[in-house]
Amino acid sequence: MPNLSGSFVDKVVENCFSLYSNLPKTGKPIEKEWTVLSCFIKYDRSDGSIEVVSLGTGSKCIGATKMSPKGDVLNDSHAEVFARRGLLIYLYENIAKTFQGESTIFVRENENLKLKDGIEFIFYSSQLPCGDASINPKCGEEELYGDILKPQKRPLEAEEEEMNPKKQKLEADIHRTGAKCLPHCEQDPKETGMNYHLLGQVRTKPGRGDRTLSVSCSDKMAKWIHLGVQGSLLNLICNPIYIKYFIFGAGVPYSEESLQRALLNRNSDCEIKLEIMPEFYQTSLVFSNVRNEDKVRPAAGSIVWMKSDTHTSEVAVQGKKLGVTKKKIHLPSSSLCISKYNIYRKFLNIVNSNVELKQKLCEEHDIESVPYNVMKMKSKRYFDKWLEVKTKFFKTWTVKPDMWDFCINTL
Ligand SMILES: [Zn+2]
Repeated sequence: MPNLSGSFVDKVVENCFSLYSNLPKTGKPIEKEWTVLSCFIKYDRSDGSIEVVSLGTGSKCIGATKMSPKGDVLNDSHAEVFARRGLLIYLYENIAKTFQGESTIFVRENENLKLKDGIEFIFYSSQLPCGDASINPKCGEEELYGDILKPQKRPLEAEEEEMNPKKQKLEADIHRTGAKCLPHCEQDPKETGMNYHLLGQVRTKPGRGDRTLSVSCSDKMAKWIHLGVQGSLLNLICNPIYIKYFIFGAGVPYSEESLQRALLNRNSDCEIKLEIMPEFYQTSLVFSNVRNEDKVRPAAGSIVWMKSDTHTSEVAVQGKKLGVTKKKIHLPSSSLCISKYNIYRKFLNIVNSNVELKQKLCEEHDIESVPYNVMKMKSKRYFDKWLEVKTKFFKTWTVKPDMWDFCINTL
């Protein structure tokens, strides 16, 4: 029996649409362009209130050669990932306020923080995530995906031809994903119909050219469900935060079966042990910028917005703030508020403000001398769980070079 009614689901999505329509035009699709919209919504069960706390748009990511060891460039600008990073900022601000004694969404539990009873999160996205969840039975179009960003613009025509579902084969009886199996693994047979794809695979994000090392949104979201949406750093401060309700858009392919496979068990026989079992819903509302016959090109920009005292919305192109000049591209101020660099800075500011936490995490070390990748590895409970989940369900994952060893001067 679903916990959310159809009218409640639509009300949640209306709130997401209204927030999106009130954002400035910059970064939104222009004529003939489409994008993906994803949001996190706080749901307070004690009074039934809902509030959108973060929003992301976009369908692009950068290739492996563009990754920056300084943590100032976003590798992945898909809407789901931007919305999650916006949520992280919202969580950090709530944690800072909790430590200052204010009433927030968190309460203290022993050494950790945990969500107050009755506080839950809802995730909305205008279409199914790229990768395994987008492979589902049906005739018709290809999956609605974006490209890996290239430095030079491709000719418009070539792009249109590739992105226009009408010009593609219509005989297939599954929706396909542009996301690719990892290079060292068994590859899709690419035979006709149901035999085009292998099911349950970890995949890298769709696109041509310089191959990305970012895994598909289906893979990242499966990780949220198994390990919590907070990631390893925040897990050093608070208990895992699991998303209970997932809502997906109308007017695009939808399959609960493919969501179950992609986000929960990946065809594995192992028993799934989850603290919170997710529920999947489809709204009746169609996002205005969803891909269709008229909207054939993915928008170049990605927008992030979060409920915050200090940030408003930002627009990203190529993983950097839109409008940054070449001269200033390496300055921390050119980095998006949701970059690894800026999120680690928020983390360190919180640790610095809490003596007990600082002692626990840094011991004798000066906090400024602990690199980002070393701090993340201190999250033992997160990585132990990750190893278990990886062995049971995913079997494999992308290996990124361990390059993010940057430090931050928090003064
Ligand atoms: Zn994606």
